[in-house]
Amino acid sequence: MPMTAQNDSMNNLLQSAAERSAHYLEQLDTRGVAPSPEAIAQLEHFDEPLPDQPTDPEAVLDMLDRFGSPATVATAGRRFYGFVIGGSLPATLAANWLAGAWDQNAGLFVASPVAATLEEIALRWLIDVLRLPRGTGAAFVTGTTMANMTALAAARHAVLRQASWDVEANGLFGAPPVTVVVGAEAHPTLFRALGLLGLGRQRVVTVPVDSRGRMRSDAFPALSGPTIVCIQAGNVNTGAFDPAKEIIAKAHAANAWVHVDGAFGLWAAAAPRRAHLVEGVAEADSWATDAHKWLNVPYDSGLAFVRDPENLRAAMALSAAYLPQGDRREPSQFTPELSRRARGIEIWAALRSLGRSGLADMIEGNCRHATRFAEGLRAAGYEILNEVILNQVLVAFGDADQTRRVIAGIQADGTSWAGETTWQGRVAMRISVSSWATTEEDVEKSLSAMIRVAKNIA
Ligand SMILES: *Cc1c(COP(=O)(O)O)cnc(C)c1O
Repeated sequence: MPMTAQNDSMNNLLQSAAERSAHYLEQLDTRGVAPSPEAIAQLEHFDEPLPDQPTDPEAVLDMLDRFGSPATVATAGRRFYGFVIGGSLPATLAANWLAGAWDQNAGLFVASPVAATLEEIALRWLIDVLRLPRGTGAAFVTGTTMANMTALAAARHAVLRQASWDVEANGLFGAPPVTVVVGAEAHPTLFRALGLLGLGRQRVVTVPVDSRGRMRSDAFPALSGPTIVCIQAGNVNTGAFDPAKEIIAKAHAANAWVHVDGAFGLWAAAAPRRAHLVEGVAEADSWATDAHKWLNVPYDSGLAFVRDPENLRAAMALSAAYLPQGDRREPSQFTPELSRRARGIEIWAALRSLGRSGLADMIEGNCRHATRFAEGLRAAGYEILNEVILNQVLVAFGDADQTRRVIAGIQADGTSWAGETTWQGRVAMRISVSSWATTEEDVEKSLSAMIRVAKNIA
């Protein structure tokens, strides 16, 4: 193909992708949030043998749009409240496209000065809005599961080095035992991270929690020897925070490392009226959070923060010896991967477009919407199972069976989507308001639909 023809066809293809994307986002408002059974059935069109011959890229895109778009869940829309799934801020989606064209490898400064620089800037801004200690180091990873793993690898390094054991060189065979303390409400992904690190999913000391899911500091164990304490900022069901101040004081008195799983809760720090929730959290030694949840960047994007970047580098660096550092931060010295996509770009774009006040408004707005959901559902006679302090709401529509039938009805109705959870033995619907796009109107519309469905069923 001559150069100009090649450019033309690339232009046309990207135009087509942009138009299809814009159309997709536009029609999200008028379709059901869950894909229809018919749309899911259409996915069978993808089930074909690998073609022998090339296909025109526009035809490939057309197939993806025709059969793929309808079979998506409208998580990019305004009325999806399942799990804790954020949308994508306009600037982040656009940045994601441009970064896709750049196709940068973010592992090395020399491979992408722009990716490395934007990570550095984004890190500085993140430390600022999340109220973490200055100088904190970070790894840009896929999500909080990997962020927990990455930060806990730094923790493992540090507590064993204190015991004169080089875990990077020698592994855990023959190492002094490491005690791991978790709350009874720790997120399931934390245990996977512990398992991957050889710390064991089950060989943990579990601290009981109160009725909101918070670790009981009065039940905190006496500690000795190398110890990692994992606390939580933002329980996935209730939004509750472990009492960071007391736990960290006790843990540090015993020379233990404190790690915070703050997948979405850490963002409370960015909203002045919620910041009291993270009181004491900044005293910890490491933190994990998601950018794809509450910062509303496209999947996937998670962050591991470590107070002393040397502990992170020691656990992650390609060579066990500290490599001589240039004056620039070398991204792959802090991450489990070498080659990876440049996640810092969208994080930068989110923060650059929102600014401090925009971020605070987004977090605060989501929390206000959650409170309104709780009020509306309670007023309609349904039971709210949590104290709504953040963006998570738990509602029961009666017994387990009634609640399950209402959830299924709400999902089938399509106005909005929320999922099922179990909270301290009760089956509940969990509403998580996590998208920049959700408006008061959406909340009222969703509430009416939920109540209408519940009245018909329960
Ligand atoms: C979502 C969540 C995780 C897991 O995060 P991923 O990004 O899905 O890997 C861990 N901990 C808590 C508290 C969460 O809410």
